[in-house]
Parts: sequence; structure tokens; C-alpha cells
Amino acid sequence: MNNRDLTGIGMTSQRTRERLIGRLMDRGISDWRVLDVMRTTPRHLFLDEALAHRAYEDVALPIGQGQTISQPYVVALMTQAVLQSADPSTGRLGKVLDVGTGCGYQAAILAQLAEEVISVERIRSLQEKARRHLAALKIRNVRLRLDDGTLGYSGEAPYDAIVSAAAPPALPQALCEQLADNGRLVIPIGDGEGQTLELIHRKEDSFHRESLGMVRFVPLRRGPVER
Ligand code: SAH
Repeated sequence: MNNRDLTGIGMTSQRTRERLIGRLMDRGISDWRVLDVMRTTPRHLFLDEALAHRAYEDVALPIGQGQTISQPYVVALMTQAVLQSADPSTGRLGKVLDVGTGCGYQAAILAQLAEEVISVERIRSLQEKARRHLAALKIRNVRLRLDDGTLGYSGEAPYDAIVSAAAPPALPQALCEQLADNGRLVIPIGDGEGQTLELIHRKEDSFHRESLGMVRFVPLRRGPVER
């Protein structure tokens, strides 16, 4: 058995994972739906073998192509924020847009809390990695698209929730327009060092904007996809 297995040993064991969940709770994550899904999703399977032993540290880690898997606390914070748009009778989201698939971890978390996830990435090699990771976990309700997510993905709009793992300098109008009524968008905004994580809540044609704190994400890059 090695640490590529689903259960994990040593630094990827259940006890190590439980410590991470404790830390998320200490930092204010209280939604049990989010904590449960993060407890059971093997983050080490989304990383290259050499970094798998650090999977349950609360840090962002490299995934290749100059990109990173987001910090668990930030994944939890974003997921908890958009879950407020869940159907009150089922506690689940309907259709979700994930911008910046990367290695597919955020998409995997969302997929377990939503009917359907559309995930857009602009670098093909990362999309392929994500496809392998999601297949290994038998997650079948994520559709991957190779495209510029700055424009959202209008073909499947509207979305009950939109989560962006890459930061534009200003709020992309297209993403707001693709929100369903009562939908929520969570996105880091700003250049380089100082970004603010913003939560936008749509109520008919008005958009309420709230700041969730300072964060650091990779930039949302415009332009053609990289094959
Ligand atoms: N959600 C990912 C985080 C990946 S980092 C995870 O859980 O691992 C952010 C990702 O956004 C990178 O993979 C980057 O290539 C992608 N990205 C940057 N600009 C983009 C754009 N305009 N459209 C789609 N993806 C973009």
C-alpha cells in the first residue's frame, strides 16, 4: 500500500485529515456539509506523489504550469459562502460553475454538494490532470470545458453558484449576468499581492457585494487556451 491509495497512510491518514478539519473549524468554518465533504475527499490524490505528504497542511501547493491547488481553508470558505444558495429542502446546490479547474479539487468538493458542476480551465494539461483525478474518485457530475472562464460559460447559464479560483483585476460582468436569481458568486478581486475575496449575491436584478477578507490567488488570465 502506498499513499496514492484512497485511504492513505502516515501523513495522509485519517488522523492527519481530522487535524485539518479541526483547524478549519477553529478558523470559523461551521457548515457541517462542507466539513463532511472535506473530511472524506482525499486531497492527496490531487497532488503529485512528491507533495502528497503535505496534502493535509492548510496551505496552497504547486500543481504544475505555475498554478496551485487552493488552500483548504479558502476552499472551505468559498464553498460555505455559496452553499447559502442551496435549495432549502435538499440542502444542495443545483448547477454550479467552477472557474479555474486546476487539479480538480474544488470541483470535486462542489460536485458532492451540487447536482451538476461545469468547470472551466484554460490550460489543457491541467484539465487532463483534473479529468484523471475526478475519474479515480468516480465523480461523474462534473463537466470539464477548455475555455476562457473570464467570460463564464454562457451555454449552461444560469448558475446557482459560481466559484472562481483565479483573480481578475475587477469583477467580470459576465459572471454576474450568469447568476440565477438568489445565486451567489465568490471570487478574489485585485492584482498581485492584495486581493479581496468577494461574495456577490443576486436578488433579481440587484447585486449585493460583501468582502470575506484578504486572500492570494493566481491571476485570472485572459486570452486563448494553452494546448
Ligand atoms: N480550483 C483549482 C485551483 C487552481 S488555480 C484547484 O482546486 O486546484 C487556478 C486555475 O485557474 C489555474 O489552473 C489557472 O490555469 C486557471 N485559470 C486562470 N485564468 C483562467 C481563465 N481565464 N479561464 C479559466 N481558467 C483560468
